[in-house]
Amino acid sequence: MVKLVCLDCGQTNRVPQDRLGSGPKCGTCGAGLMDGKAHEIDDATLEKAIRTDDVPLVVDFWAPWCGPCRMMAPEYSKAAAALKGRSRLVKLNTEQHQRASAKFGIRGIPTLIAFGKGREAARQSGALPAAQIEAFANQVPAAKG
Ligand code: ZN
Repeated sequence: MVKLVCLDCGQTNRVPQDRLGSGPKCGTCGAGLMDGKAHEIDDATLEKAIRTDDVPLVVDFWAPWCGPCRMMAPEYSKAAAALKGRSRLVKLNTEQHQRASAKFGIRGIPTLIAFGKGREAARQSGALPAAQIEAFANQVPAAKG
C-alpha cells in the first residue's frame, strides 16, 4: 500500500501500489487521487502531502502576475497527464499562500521543487517545456514497492 494525501480535502488515503494507474479515488470526498491533473493546493495540504506521500510530488510555485508562469501552465498540465500513475504535479499560488514559499526560500518564480520521501530532491527555476518537466519529475525515485 502507498499513502497519498487527497489534494482536495487533505485526507490521507492508502492505495494498493498496482492501483495507482487505475484512477484511485479519495475515500472521504471522492476526488481523484491520481487523475493526471495539476491540482491547485494550499500551504497546509502541501506540507501534509510532502510529509505523507509515498509517490514523488512536484510543486510549481507560481503567481498570476508572472508571465513565464502562465506560459508554462499548459506545459505543466501536459506533463501532469503524462506522469499520471507515477508522480503527482501540484501548483501553489505564492500570492495566496505565502507560508510554503517562505519556508522553501522561493526567490523567483516559476520554481519547481520535486519531493520524495519527505525531502526536497530537486529544484529548478524558470519555465520549462513539458518534456523537461517530465524529466525533472523522473529524477525522484518512483513509489516504494
Ligand atoms: Zn478527499
